[in-house]
This record gives sequence, structure tokens and C-alpha cells, in this order.
Amino acid sequence: MSFLDYAPAPESRAIVSLKDDYGLFIGGEFVPGHGSSFRTISPATEEVLTTVSEADASDVDAAVQAARGAYDKVWSRMPGAERAKYLFRIARIIQERSRELAVAETLDNGKPIKETRDVDIPLVAAWFFYYAGWADKLDYATGSKNPQAWGVVGQVIPWNFPLMMLAWKIAPALAAGNTVVLKPAETTPVTALLFAEICQQAELPPGVVNIITGAGETGRELVSHEGIDKVAFTGSTPVGRAIARTLAGRSTALTLELGGKGANIVFDDAAFDEAVEGIIQGIFFNQGHVCCAGSRLLVQENVHDELLQRLQRRISTLRLGDPLDKNTDIGAINSKAQLDKITELAQSGVAEGATQWQADCALPSSGFWFAPTVFTDVQTSHRIAQEEIFGPVLSVLTFRTPDEAIAKANNTPFGLSAGVWTEKASRMLAVVDKLQAGVVWSNTFNKFDPTSPFGGYQESGYGREGGVPGLLSYLRPTTGAAVKK
Ligand code: NAP
Ligand code: MG
Repeated sequence: MSFLDYAPAPESRAIVSLKDDYGLFIGGEFVPGHGSSFRTISPATEEVLTTVSEADASDVDAAVQAARGAYDKVWSRMPGAERAKYLFRIARIIQERSRELAVAETLDNGKPIKETRDVDIPLVAAWFFYYAGWADKLDYATGSKNPQAWGVVGQVIPWNFPLMMLAWKIAPALAAGNTVVLKPAETTPVTALLFAEICQQAELPPGVVNIITGAGETGRELVSHEGIDKVAFTGSTPVGRAIARTLAGRSTALTLELGGKGANIVFDDAAFDEAVEGIIQGIFFNQGHVCCAGSRLLVQENVHDELLQRLQRRISTLRLGDPLDKNTDIGAINSKAQLDKITELAQSGVAEGATQWQADCALPSSGFWFAPTVFTDVQTSHRIAQEEIFGPVLSVLTFRTPDEAIAKANNTPFGLSAGVWTEKASRMLAVVDKLQAGVVWSNTFNKFDPTSPFGGYQESGYGREGGVPGLLSYLRPTTGAAVKK
């Protein structure tokens, strides 16, 4: 039952004016691609937003050549302090255009405007500001004289945080002195194309950043191109594995940021109201399309019923619908394909004997939607406890002792994130130390900062983004930086 009704509060989309079609951004210009063009839609309405060029092998080659030319003739010769000025300029333009970028991201991706406005775009600007500050201090970051960039970097990113993933890739790469060719995901190219315009606006030397749109095949062409010195990939574990196979035996450096199945562990002494907010933030932020989502809730058995009751009551107040509405908590699923994947995995949970609870909320008639879902009675062997769902679906398991919580949390091939909720500092420290995860949040979840390294273990990939380790990944290892294949 809802006691309060909200009036519609839509953010105006007038601030975004997209062209009817976009070419590829190569050598500082938009040029037509040689593949077949494709359309990107708003997943909330299925309305077509714009038409985008597909890069074929010859376009990928042209982009790599442009990046090579810019590296050899301009960027590798430019002092770090000068590179920094371009990065600061890009960061400031992102701030100036932040509302436009937030609306464009919400339209193309389906995520709520309050997230793009308050999380994605501020972090994008923060990433450029942070790495701008490092561009003239590489000696200090590495502890060696004149560290060398890799050269030309090929970067492939997913659709869940389109502009944010672009910033995580491009800002440290340019600060370290590389030039880049980046491929955004097929369903979310819009903000990468607006970023290309920002590069023009910042008068970044042509060829330093090249943006090539396309689907998986374009990504495959890019990462296997012989002119690339380093590949940085964020996406699914199967594609990451395929890329590692392609590059095996080559000198091309590789970092992989892959999937996850994060455990959010709640002890019986936790502050419940805060934990409930953290659990919700952990799994319903960005519709659960988050690699480090807290998709497995591990709750101490003696407080299971009380915590679940509070959690379900709170979930029932979340507002699902128009992502451009400023009161919306849960937006659209990014694509029909992703919706089908979530639906299939949720059905497997029911078939394997878990108990499904869904918030009672009306789903819009067009677009792709999935109601917030909680599974209880989950066994560790269930697919919903093992596989990444990448949607608003929480699997709840119980434990009795800290050792059991740790064993269950680590019982996954991934190792990206975890959260621990307890008021006892000694317990917090003891548990955190034993979790095999690249990031562990204590009494919070899904917090990001450019100074803080992010990355995984095991099938969640290798390499770190963010902080000094994220900078070192873009420098040759003669500096002592650990970037390996
Ligand atoms: P995906 O299918 O692996 O796609 C990621 C990117 O790779 C897209 O641009 C995709 O193109 C491209 N691609 C597809 N096949 C390729 C190939 N053979 N060679 C090179 N590139 C290829 O993953 P997704 O479903 O879009 O994204 C979700 C996954 O990303 C989840 O598993 C999530 O956990 C992971 N993720 C990880 C992090 C992290 O930092 N660890 C962050 C965000 C997301 P198209 O999309 O155009 O097909
Ligand atoms: Mg789209």
C-alpha cells in the first residue's frame, strides 16, 4: 500500500540534441563507417534515439593508425604538464555539460536520472580531474625516471556504466601518455559519441582519442589488431577469456575487469536500518547491472526473518518507472536480451526450489522491466547463488558462524566485491581479511572513488582501475608496475 503519491517530476530532455546519425570518431573527425549502421534505442520506451555507424576491420585499422600517428608525432613528445591541461579541460567541460550528459545517459541506458546526475557523471568528471593531477608526476607514481607509456591502447567497455567506464579507461591511459581507440557497447554508444565532441571542444590533438562504435565483432577486431600495445577490457568473463586466448603468446599487455557475484554479509549485531539501505544499494542500484553488486545476501540465521521483513517493507517503497523522473529509484533493464537472461535465471531459481518474492509494482507497457526480486531458501548449489544475474535479483542465504559466512562468501569462481555489516570492529577486521575479493566495503556498499583501486581476483579478472595502480597499468613494466598477461 502506498501512503504517499508523487506527482510526476520528469527531467527535461530538451538539453540533449542528438544528430540523426553519427559516424566514427577517427583522427579527430567524424567519418562514416564501412559496416552496416545500427540504431540505439531508449530501453524505457523502445524509441529510436539515433543511428550509429558500425566499424569494420578497415575502420578499426584506420583508428589504430590514427592513434599510432598521434602517439608518435604528438602525445609521446608532449610534457606531462601539457597533457594534464587537456585532461583538466575535458574534466571541466564534462562538469559544464553534466546535465546534458546525465539526460543522454539515462535515455540511452535506462538508468534513473538521479543516478546519472548524482553518481555517474560526477564520477566521470572526478576521474578526469584525478588523473589530470598525475600526468606530470609519473616519476613519483612509479619511483623511476621517465616511465614509458605502452603506446596505442585498445579499450572495450560494457553498457552498464557507459560514460563512467569510458572515463575509467581513457583518463588514466591519457595521463600516462598513451593514445586510445575505444569501443563502447552496442546498446549504449551515445555518451561516448558526445565525449568525442567534447574532445573536439577541448581541442585535444587529433587521433589521441578515437571512438569506434559497433557490436562484438568490432570489439574482436580491435583487441586482435596487431598495432595495439595494450588491451583494456571490461565485460563478461566468457569474452574476457576469449580475449586472453587471442593475446596469449603476444607481447600485448592486457587488463581484464570481468563479472562478479558479490556477498553482502550481515551479522546479528549490525545496525539493521543501515544494513537494509546498504543491501538495497548493493543490488538495486543501476537495476543490479553492476559487476560488483551485492547479489548474494548472507544473513546470520537468528536474524533472517526480522531482516527480511524490514527489507521487503523497504523494497515495497521503491519507485520503478520512467528513468527521467527525478523520483524514480529503479529504471529499465538495458536490453531485451538482458531481460531474457534475467528472466531465465529467475525461473531457474523457482525450478530449483528457492522461494521467490517480488515487489508489487506495475511495470510500464513498453520497454524492458523487471520487478525487484528476492529469493529466499537459496542453496549454494543453485544457479542463482552461483551465476551472475546482472539484474535486480537478490539471492538470500544464511549462516551461523563467521567461518561459515566466510566459506560461503568465498564459494564462487569470482572475486570482485563483498560487504560486511557488523558494529563490532574486531569482527569486521577478522572477516574482511579472509574475504577473497578485490573490494570489501564495511558498513556500506557500492561506493566508488577515483583514488581507490578497483578490480578482481580469479574469474573477475586481473589488473586494477583507479588510484595509482590504475595509472601503473598504463605504463610499461620496466617501471616495476605489475601489468602482466
Ligand atoms: P560483454 O558481452 O562481455 O560485452 C562487453 C563489451 O565487449 C561490449 O562492448 C561488447 O560489444 C564487446 N564484445 C563482445 N564480444 C566481444 C569479443 N569477442 N571481443 C571483443 N569485444 C567483445 O559484457 P556485457 O554483457 O556487455 O557487460 C556485462 C558484463 O560486464 C558483466 O559480466 C559485468 O560483471 C561486467 N562488468 C565488469 C566490470 C568490472 O569492472 N569488473 C564493470 C562493469 C561490467 P557489444 O556490447 O556491442 O556486443
Ligand atoms: Mg540504448
